[in-house]
Amino acid sequence: MNANTLPGQPHIAYQANTLCMEDVKLADVAAQYGTPVFAYSKAAMLSALAAYQRGFAGRKVQICYAMKANSNLAVLQVFAKAGCGFDIVSGGELARVLAAGGTPDKIIFSGVGKTRAEMQQALELGIGCFNVESEAELEVLNDVALKLGKKAPVSLRVNPNVDPKTHPYISTGLKGNKFGVAHESAVQTYLRAAALPGLAVVGIDCHIGSQITEATPYLDAMDRILDLVTDIEAAGVPIHHIDFGGGLGIDYNGDTPPAADTLWQQLLAKLDARGYGHRQLMIEPGRSLVGNAGVCLSEVVFMKPGEQKNFCIIDAAMNDLPRPAMYQAFHQIVPLTPRAGATTLVDVVGPVCESGDWIGRDRQLNVQAGDTLAVLSAGAYCMSMASNYNTRGRAAEVLIDGHQVHLIRHRETAADTFVGEHLVP
Ligand SMILES: *Cc1c(COP(=O)(O)O)cnc(C)c1O
Repeated sequence: MNANTLPGQPHIAYQANTLCMEDVKLADVAAQYGTPVFAYSKAAMLSALAAYQRGFAGRKVQICYAMKANSNLAVLQVFAKAGCGFDIVSGGELARVLAAGGTPDKIIFSGVGKTRAEMQQALELGIGCFNVESEAELEVLNDVALKLGKKAPVSLRVNPNVDPKTHPYISTGLKGNKFGVAHESAVQTYLRAAALPGLAVVGIDCHIGSQITEATPYLDAMDRILDLVTDIEAAGVPIHHIDFGGGLGIDYNGDTPPAADTLWQQLLAKLDARGYGHRQLMIEPGRSLVGNAGVCLSEVVFMKPGEQKNFCIIDAAMNDLPRPAMYQAFHQIVPLTPRAGATTLVDVVGPVCESGDWIGRDRQLNVQAGDTLAVLSAGAYCMSMASNYNTRGRAAEVLIDGHQVHLIRHRETAADTFVGEHLVP
């Protein structure tokens, strides 16, 4: 590894005092496409995927990229070409997968609030599986399928009630969460599903949270799920595939999540020990495939020294990078061309009219207006959560592949942001 590589960011490194992604100077990207702009490394995405593929070598597995992490068509295309299926949570995501060249039979449809229209769209296309999250959804899906003369393939998302030890907003497998059916009533819900003529039970799934940095919650959830598979099959309902969800964390700020292959060696050892190693497996990773493949480049607009705080005001904001405002999340922020000399303590903030519009607090930086900064680990849950708040056009996105830079989304113009709106006569 290059000595100038940044921790957790193997695809970016300083070369001759300028930050590069693969073989491209990021300053050139900022100059050509303007700021803010997101840059993603194709090699970093494929190497994150390769870690999972190594971990599962010799197993029956379908990796379904949880596309809500980053749903740009070109990003989906990279994963579709690499053999991934997709975990979707809306009819809109379904349309995106198809536009990017994904195949319906490798799609699984998650989410607590699927509408009849979304169910119908997915059934007509022949998606691989509905991950059903409640009894009410089972009944409605059965009804929609019968009306279409189809059988809906279903898996029940079971809530294993394990604590993933992550931020409460991204913990999803505890009793108080809105997700999944309760562990205690799962067998009964499976019997109900098996009795409904419009449904075909094909699997079981769980997803306990996001940005998980320890193996223990996964090992505990696996035990709980395998206990249930035993009970459900004993009650006469065969389970074809077992889906362990996503959630593996990345290194934002010295975080030390297990590598995907190491984690899965441990999990597969448990699966083998319990006699389930030969089963068809599925996983739904999102963040861990794209999070550290991306950066957001942003220019310093003004430096604003204050009585209590010094502010570094940049042209990216909470509408581009919502994670700090939403989860108090940390992103490393580094200059594209470091200056010699002393740093000062600054809050890096955006131009949006909210005090919650900060990107990084109490950072040591030596920067001036006109410098370009890179906000790191910005490949997941940034652009896909971006909004037009303050009528800010969403940023441009590029995909970097070796020395090539592909524009994969143009910067939204002001006019783009009001497409679809109408004046009254
Ligand atoms: C968001 C989500 C994922 C992906 O989570 P990551 O933390 O990004 O890996 C997987 N499955 C379901 C059901 C999800 O909602």
